[in-house]
Parts: sequence; structure tokens; C-alpha cells
Amino acid sequence: MINMEKCPKCDGKMKEVKVKIQDADSPVTSYQCAKCGYFYFEKKSISKAINEIKITETPLAIKQKIIKLSHDGLGMYINRDVARSLNLKGGEEVFVSVPDKNRLIVNLAHP
Ligand SMILES: [Zn+2]
Repeated sequence: MINMEKCPKCDGKMKEVKVKIQDADSPVTSYQCAKCGYFYFEKKSISKAINEIKITETPLAIKQKIIKLSHDGLGMYINRDVARSLNLKGGEEVFVSVPDKNRLIVNLAHP
């Protein structure tokens, strides 16, 4: 693939380089100037890698059981220590996202 990006500093030719970042599955695309060494990461691929790092960097993985609730609803027991470390309170609203078939991400509404 021929890349025609130009260096914002010296107007030299930018070379596309794939960089592997620790803990991220996808390589990050970066552009490097052959002349002055200036380089930057492609926004789209760096944010993708950052998201992957966040997911793999989970400090703790606790096995929990899914609880069957009435009307086919399911619930998940949240360990007291987890709740405390996240300052989670009963009745709080959270956002659940499903990035793929193996993951369920719970985003807390509070900062
Ligand atoms: Zn340059």
C-alpha cells in the first residue's frame, strides 16, 4: 500500500508503520517521517488499541453466578468488595454493553 501522507513538519514522505502495543490485539498504524523522524498514530487505530488494553487490564476476575429472576430475567450477584471498590449502591443504574459474544461490560453511570 502506497501512502501519500506528508509530514506536517518538513513536508517529507510519511511511511506507514504498524506498531504492536502490549496488551492490545490490534496493531496500531503509525506514520513516520523518513526525513525528520516525526511520527504520529492514526487516531482510529490508537483508540481501538486503547479500548483493547482497558478490557485486558482488568485487575481482578471473580467468578460469579448468574441468578435466575422471575419472568426469565437474569441477575448477577456483585461481591461486596467489588461493590465497595466501585462505590456501587443498590438501585443504581448502570449501562451494559455487549462488545462480542463473550463479554458483557458494565459501565457505571457515576464518574
Ligand atoms: Zn518530517
